[in-house]
Amino acid sequence: MTPAFLSIRSLRQTYGSVVAVDDVSLEIPEGEFLTFLGPSGSGKSTTLYALAGFNEPTSGDILLRGASILSTPSHKRNIGMVFQRYTLFPHLNVRENVAFPLRVRGRPAAEIAAQVDRMLALVRLDGYGDRMPGHLSGGQQQRVALARALAYDPPVLLMDEPLSALDKKLREEIQIEIRRIHRETGVTILYVTHDQEEALRLSDRIAVFNHGRIEQVGSGRDLYHDPATRFVASFIGDSSFLDTAETKVAGERGRVVFPDGTVVADLPVHRSAGAASSGPAAGQVMVRPQSLRLDVKGQGLPVRVLDVTFLGDSSTVQFQTAWGQELWMRASAEAIAGVSPEATFHVNWNPAESHLFL
Ligand code: ADP
Repeated sequence: MTPAFLSIRSLRQTYGSVVAVDDVSLEIPEGEFLTFLGPSGSGKSTTLYALAGFNEPTSGDILLRGASILSTPSHKRNIGMVFQRYTLFPHLNVRENVAFPLRVRGRPAAEIAAQVDRMLALVRLDGYGDRMPGHLSGGQQQRVALARALAYDPPVLLMDEPLSALDKKLREEIQIEIRRIHRETGVTILYVTHDQEEALRLSDRIAVFNHGRIEQVGSGRDLYHDPATRFVASFIGDSSFLDTAETKVAGERGRVVFPDGTVVADLPVHRSAGAASSGPAAGQVMVRPQSLRLDVKGQGLPVRVLDVTFLGDSSTVQFQTAWGQELWMRASAEAIAGVSPEATFHVNWNPAESHLFL
């Protein structure tokens, strides 16, 4: 079998008693856009920095085309990097910044000039070569950083929250540019973010980090429709979780009784590690806001309206169950016409679109 393009094997990084990365393994095919998504402190950057060679893992290995890179010093790994803060050389103009990695590698002047032109065209900054970094916007500076990182054709590009200092509109613009650049260059990209929407927009696959471990790796669709854990379900997309009073499982389907006596059957079951030892009442049902429907025939779960929020393209309704838990619904403004605080309704959903976590 041919080895994966990039392999991270049982990577572990500890700092004293802190376990920053706990047994992370990933196989990454060439040309993939893989995002590390997770809350702050979950080990994303530490994993990325191990690839960059900024820290030496406590144990485990990283292989590029089948060969370990751990003993190769950072500057010889030929891995491109773009970080959150602008890291351009402030005293060099745009051309000189992009040319820098090529000069360091001793390329001939004519080749450097041609490559810098190509890179500036790639990031759509032709004509900006003579500007100084201080005279560029934040978004333009990140484009220059991207051009510089790609100038020497690295096999892998690492990006650590490169857009987090930019405002939302600019961020979305550059996300589209990054996708285009990934398509045009075919470079393998590992991208760190804590923003699920950014991960969904950009990635072929997403690795969801939590407490130094990867909880699930998959496409955005996989993670959204078939979350392996409660954590993934709550991190990707919006969701409400409802406690159950009783759960009964037969094979891959479950039946629950909620604390108010409402029964829902045919729920897809997800077992988390250690679930076997937890009692039958420990199950929780996860429902996406857009799965929820008002039931005019008075069937389903009785709820009371707490709040209605108009969001333009859609509206959200916040409900409360009889036992005090909150439940969100997202729907068109027409679908919830006449819904106002304190009103009571029944809501239901297609059980196949929700999940029972044990
Ligand atoms: P993320 O990128 O997901 O925000 P990090 O990889 O930066 O998370 O950090 C993971 C954990 O490791 C955190 O608890 C962090 O405080 C700890 N950590 C990271 N780097 C160091 C370090 N150099 N020394 C001590 N602890 C560290």
